[in-house]
Amino acid sequence: MICRFKYLFLIGLIGQEVIRFPHRKRHRQEWREKRMAETRTRPFDVALDMLAFTGMELIPILYVFTPWLNFADYALPAWASWIGMAVLAGAVWLLWRAHADLGRNWSPTLQILEPHTLVTQGVYQYIRHPIYAAVWLTGLAQLSLLANRIAGPAGLLSFLPVYLVRVAREERMMLDHFGDEYRAYMNRTGTIMPRLGK
Ligand code: SAH
Repeated sequence: MICRFKYLFLIGLIGQEVIRFPHRKRHRQEWREKRMAETRTRPFDVALDMLAFTGMELIPILYVFTPWLNFADYALPAWASWIGMAVLAGAVWLLWRAHADLGRNWSPTLQILEPHTLVTQGVYQYIRHPIYAAVWLTGLAQLSLLANRIAGPAGLLSFLPVYLVRVAREERMMLDHFGDEYRAYMNRTGTIMPRLGK
């Protein structure tokens, strides 16, 4: 039974790609029409994205479809995998809601579109980075569904540097564009966890 969970993790990843697909497609169209006010993507950001892709998608795919990482397998209790499934379901839900709320303001890299609306509703009224929160949850699910010392933690480890660099630069960009409106929004929301007592 344990080995089946790795397939369920892949199904979760595919579900996330299905959610992202229409948004990527729309963004490609906007890119062609040059509907961007500003792009803040450096080669370093592209390298970080490739790192996250390797840890969160490539390594899990290699783990599931090749025997190359089997030497690092270990036994995980079934309850850990069931918790992982619940976390993965939560990640898929959060990604879906965040994309629905952010609408056409989404971009795969740091960009201000033309026009761009500051979204503070839906899941964005609680946290500023629900899409990155969904990625963290997916990394936790990966850890508890892939019973392998390399493939399990690869997601969390590869996303950490991406997250640290990206959030700081994204919030700088949002502050430059939306000023006090974004500062007030920061004061009443959490980064990836809702503020308690508000
Ligand atoms: N960090 C957010 C969005 C990721 S997509 C999340 O995790 O859900 C990245 C792009 O979203 C950024 O380039 C920025 O232009 C846009 N963005 C981020 N927060 C936003 C907000 N509250 N309203 C509108 N656009 C936002």
